[in-house]
Amino acid sequence: MNHHPSNLWAAANCWSLRRAWAAARDTNTGDDTRDGIRSPIWGNRTSAGGHGDPIGDTVTADVDHHAHTARTIDEVRANVDQAWWLLASATRNTPMPTGPALAVISRLVPAADPNTADEVAGYLDRADRALRRTLRLGDDHWPIPGNPPCPGCGVRMLRARTSAPDSSAWPVICAAGCVCLGDTCGCGMDIRVKRTVHIWPAAWARNTLDLTATEVDATCA
Ligand SMILES: [Zn+2]
Ligand SMILES: [Zn+2]
Repeated sequence: MNHHPSNLWAAANCWSLRRAWAAARDTNTGDDTRDGIRSPIWGNRTSAGGHGDPIGDTVTADVDHHAHTARTIDEVRANVDQAWWLLASATRNTPMPTGPALAVISRLVPAADPNTADEVAGYLDRADRALRRTLRLGDDHWPIPGNPPCPGCGVRMLRARTSAPDSSAWPVICAAGCVCLGDTCGCGMDIRVKRTVHIWPAAWARNTLDLTATEVDATCA
């Protein structure tokens, strides 16, 4: 995995959108049968813990808003299309995976250069936020046990992003939204680039925050 923060961010946003999209499909949104960004089949680990199961009453209550939902789906598709094209052209030397667009994007993100990953992260973020607003679905975030301070800004708002089906792939973010200062930053990210978001790979959380896999699993069970 490419540990550049922009690539990690794009990958995390892609999983978040995949998860929101799966929730949207599960609400059976009327006669809109467009399924161009079909979600994948999820594994057993759906992290139905403290951050809430997206397939619930709140989501079902929104099914009536057909027009609004259709507009949102158009917005999601437009952003996903942009992300897809950007990635496809930026990774011309990588064999093109087949499958639904978001699954393809997940596969291509690690091979992308950081600038492309940054743009892709932006498109996916817009799509994810729009969809989650429509579904009234919160972020897939989970507080880090012990609530340790962010090594970047000191605020105690570190969160695991729990959208990916495999908890060993959950990155950690600072929900205070601090950004990197570059080489002099105390954040401890492998690659420190001025003004990028702070996002650490799951392994960092295990090693630096002294979490064990068992602890992660127990809290999310
Ligand atoms: Zn911070
Ligand atoms: Zn930093």
